[in-house]
Amino acid sequence: MAIDVLNPYDMAVAQFDEAANRLGLSQSMRAILRKPKRELIVNFPVRMDNSDVEMFTGYRVQHNINRGPAKGGIRFSPEVSLDEVRALAMWMTWKCAIVDIPFGGAKGGVICDTHKLSRGELERLTRRYATEISILMGPDSDIPAPDMNTNPQIMAWIMDTYSMHKGYSVPAVITGKPLAIGGSKGRLEATARGVQFVTREVMRNLGMQPDKSSVVIQGFGNVGGISARLLNELGCKIVGLSDIQGGVYNPNGIDVQQATRHAKEHGVLKGLPGTDAVTNAELLELPCDVLVPAALENQLTARNAARVKARLIIEAANGPTTPDADRIFNDRGITVVPDILANAGGVTVSYFEWVQGLQRFFWSEHEINEQLEAIMTRSFHAVVQKADEQATNLRMGAYLLAVARVAEATELRGVYP
Ligand code: NAD
Repeated sequence: MAIDVLNPYDMAVAQFDEAANRLGLSQSMRAILRKPKRELIVNFPVRMDNSDVEMFTGYRVQHNINRGPAKGGIRFSPEVSLDEVRALAMWMTWKCAIVDIPFGGAKGGVICDTHKLSRGELERLTRRYATEISILMGPDSDIPAPDMNTNPQIMAWIMDTYSMHKGYSVPAVITGKPLAIGGSKGRLEATARGVQFVTREVMRNLGMQPDKSSVVIQGFGNVGGISARLLNELGCKIVGLSDIQGGVYNPNGIDVQQATRHAKEHGVLKGLPGTDAVTNAELLELPCDVLVPAALENQLTARNAARVKARLIIEAANGPTTPDADRIFNDRGITVVPDILANAGGVTVSYFEWVQGLQRFFWSEHEINEQLEAIMTRSFHAVVQKADEQATNLRMGAYLLAVARVAEATELRGVYP
């Protein structure tokens, strides 16, 4: 029996290798693209509220910057590891190439449990981490953004820390900022809005009707929570939702507004009136038409892929499906819209935010959403076309498109010196 590859970096490299084989990339190009360009490990002290000093470890990895400055989120989680950050940085390179925006891929993270930190501790940790990675960070070099357990306030502290060091405000150093300090309209919803656009397009292609489709979503944070609302607006019935504490299920449909209010009030979805409690493992196997993993990596594996009931999987999270599970879904005729396409709405509006920050000229929400829709639908159809041409699935179609674009830029720039 196949063994699941659980190390996210191994998973990212395995996906890349398959694309490189199909593209017939040279050995030297493979060697360049397989490895991150830069990896920074920082160990830094933070003064806690009780006056003790605790040491924290953080990372910033840039995978490839041949198409433009490095771009990628910052994750705060006890599970952060160098290999996870490497994988996420590599996926960012491909993601930016798929939506054809002029960025390379990066990612950052700090090993910490934000739920155990006071606001003051979180701010001091954030500002010190920002200082440590400022040797890489900059509006022309490396532009971070939010990811798991980081939010607009944390982006504001990073922007302020960088600006204090410079002596003037540098809004374009980070995206996902609050509107009041140069954030972009539509950024908070951008990833989920991208999920909504690709879901609409893939449903059209598969002849599925949103108002006759049921959806289960794992994760109820920025991406999962807003995807629930926007997929509901598309006409879908949301039947299952979950957060880190577990899931809730109602085959007749969950009122998303009520779920949002409940999660705000109680901190968790658990106990949402009118729903049955399910575990996160059970949630992924619930009867539904569309499954949206929107939490973290390695959720759909060889262990549960055969029991997944959905006919369509939209990867709102990064890396939720292992290569073994992917093969099972492929054999079962389940369509998977891959992460590097499905959740690219976030980085696309981050690109708009960066451009607005550099130009000091801000766009309306209507303009943002219209441009996002154009990019997401165009990218979706480019991936479908590539997959059809090469008689492969959407993931490989997306990889073939992205890796070829990055390889072309890398080839044109040549090897220095
Ligand atoms: P978030 O911190 O806002 O939300 C994460 C959600 O997942 C929370 O509801 C949390 O309770 C839940 N969760 C955490 N661990 C879980 C577990 N073990 N089982 C079930 N649920 C769990 O994070 P987010 O920004 O929504 O990011 C979610 C995913 O989307 C990540 O994979 C991230 O890399 C990806 N992503 C985010 C963005 C963005 O713009 N925020 C963009 C692209 C991709």
